[in-house]
Amino acid sequence: MTARILVVDDIPANVRLLEVRLLAEYFEVLTATNGPDAIETCENGKVDVVLLDVMMPDMDGFEVCRRLKSDPATSHIPVVMITALDQVSDRVRGLEAGADDFLTKPVNDLQLMTRVKSLVRLKSLTDELRLRASTTRNIGIGELLSRNFASEDTTPKVLLIDERKTSVERIQKMLRDRADLDVTHDPHAGFFQAAETSYECVMISTAFADFDPLRLCSQLRSLDRTRFVPIILLAEEGEEERIIRGLELGINDYLMRPIDQQELTARLRTQVRRKRYNDQLRASVTQTIEMAVTDGLTGLHNRRYLDSHLQTLFDRAVARRRPLSVMITDLDRFKAINDAHGHDGGDEVLREFARRLRKNVRGIDLACRFGGEEFVVVMPDTEGAVAEKVAERIRAEIAQAAFAIGQDGKAIEVTVSVGVSSVLKGVDTVAALMKRADLALYEAKSGGRNRVVAKAA
Ligand SMILES: [Mg+2]
Repeated sequence: MTARILVVDDIPANVRLLEVRLLAEYFEVLTATNGPDAIETCENGKVDVVLLDVMMPDMDGFEVCRRLKSDPATSHIPVVMITALDQVSDRVRGLEAGADDFLTKPVNDLQLMTRVKSLVRLKSLTDELRLRASTTRNIGIGELLSRNFASEDTTPKVLLIDERKTSVERIQKMLRDRADLDVTHDPHAGFFQAAETSYECVMISTAFADFDPLRLCSQLRSLDRTRFVPIILLAEEGEEERIIRGLELGINDYLMRPIDQQELTARLRTQVRRKRYNDQLRASVTQTIEMAVTDGLTGLHNRRYLDSHLQTLFDRAVARRRPLSVMITDLDRFKAINDAHGHDGGDEVLREFARRLRKNVRGIDLACRFGGEEFVVVMPDTEGAVAEKVAERIRAEIAQAAFAIGQDGKAIEVTVSVGVSSVLKGVDTVAALMKRADLALYEAKSGGRNRVVAKAA
């Protein structure tokens, strides 16, 4: 497994120490001795994992982590915080800053390698999903990732498999209001329960009188339905060997008893957040493949695509205080064209219209066949006055040259009516925006067709 690891520490000797150990495992190593350099490297280069020192002058590790995690371009890169020994509060702060893991100084060799390898594996899965998501969608990956996931706040569904009653009671108490916790004392029953219910995390105790908890981990990893569920091992002091084997089997994290409540909740939150993120990517890939996003006749996007993305474009425009305009176009007297030239003739007109429409919109505009002879163009970063000009250009482009259809290239006069609306400052909604465009279109029709009406405030 080759991967590019960025080592960040203000003390060059520390950097060198980690670099040597990583190089010995054939990792590629990049280095930085301060926060801003580290961020720049992440933005520019292909970094697979960041090993980040907490204590640095000027910008400390927490701040670097927060910045990396809040930028959609770098938020997917796993960050391992390197803290001083036994600083539980630092670890919790690190996890709250979005760190994926942490190691304590002096860094234990085996832990370093297992943690790095496990994160590299995870990263390559995420990269693959990101790639698929971005190639199957015309909408940029940045947009997909910058979307606010409403699910962030919902209580995660968690399964605890632990046969000791006192331990179970303590964890139940710690996670009250923080997780929807199911408990089973029997590991065999736990396996079936995990397979039958969709949990967002499974916590497995290592303390069974008569059962190897790693067997359960490996079973969960080999079953399709539980392959991606995060597993946290609840281990005892002195079980480092078992933890390392667990990490190799694919457990995601572990906690040492006695369990610290803050650490438990922070680690659980990290696992759940990561799972939701990957689920979302996976779902968006699947969904995109499942539903055709293209209108078969015209090659423009279809209504489904518009319905799923207009809200995103709208939210982004509002959040960034940027304008956004929409136009609805409708071919005039299209029924008459169909009647006179048949459906094939009508289809040819629609195709030619789409071709001229596409020629007159920009790449960032979202052009869709809304249905029948109605088309919608969403124009990000566009003021109403500009949108109106674009609409007028399209209207003229349609009216000025007859459409040639059929083998003999029969000329048909086609005109189009257009309604334009723009996002209002203050309170506005997608539905209201579309409604105004529709009203404008209606006015264009009733005002005599072959015209543009704008409801741009
Ligand atoms: Mg330092």
